Amino acid sequence: NVTFRNVRKSFGEFVALEELDLHINEGEFVALLGPSGCGKSTTLRMLAGLEFPTSGEIMIGDRVVNDLAPGKRDIAMVFQSYALYPHMSVGENIGYPLKKRGIKGRERDDAVQKAAELLQLDALLDRKPKQLSGGQQQRVALGRALVRDPQVFLLDEPLSNLDAKLRSYMRAELIELHRRLGKTMVYVTHDQLEAMTMASRIAVMHGGRVQQFDTPDAIYNRPANRFVAGFIGTPP
Ligand code: ATP
Ligand code: MG
Repeated sequence: NVTFRNVRKSFGEFVALEELDLHINEGEFVALLGPSGCGKSTTLRMLAGLEFPTSGEIMIGDRVVNDLAPGKRDIAMVFQSYALYPHMSVGENIGYPLKKRGIKGRERDDAVQKAAELLQLDALLDRKPKQLSGGQQQRVALGRALVRDPQVFLLDEPLSNLDAKLRSYMRAELIELHRRLGKTMVYVTHDQLEAMTMASRIAVMHGGRVQQFDTPDAIYNRPANRFVAGFIGTPP
């Protein structure tokens, strides 16, 4: 339910993305994988409405969203830097998107509680972000996305600030979360293992283009070109 149709994005003279065509099905977990500078974040930011395509068409559901403001899109984005509000408690951080929408009282409390339970944060609702571990902070950032109950989740390297052990733990948690929610997730990473173990399909990107968009199995066993083969590692 997310479509990029012949999207091009330039910053001045510099072409960051060209001929971008992607169709992501409802409920799918898609990874955007590729080296630094290949255009992963720009792709995600265009979906979020934080950047706008130079040409082409972007659709979420059956709506063309090209020029739509971020707040008018049915999405929630989680960043690498969790960007929590330091002066607010965990509960206030999670509830903030609802507060902004004018949702208050019982309705907001219930939504915060539900997200907190799902992410095992219910015992920590009164703490401040600085009293939490990195993994707990990242879960708060996820909680803030969850309460909005969006059609599509956008995650930009959400685990890259965590140590290896916590990262693999959070990977499993995200897979479980996706299984439970059944929502579309677009997940940016430069980590092959992360993409291979989490996503139903992977878009391998390089030089502003999608080199291959397929299942982990197909990408590993039938790489479309030398770049993909080299980036993923050749099959045994
Ligand atoms: P990384 O893995 O390092 O986060 P990325 O794949 O997310 O990389 P992008 O952030 O999408 O890469 O950037 C793609 C290209 O566009 C890069 O060459 C980058 O320098 C350029 N770029 C991104 N944003 C801007 C901007 N606002 N102005 C000019 N160039 C930009
Ligand atoms: Mg990036």
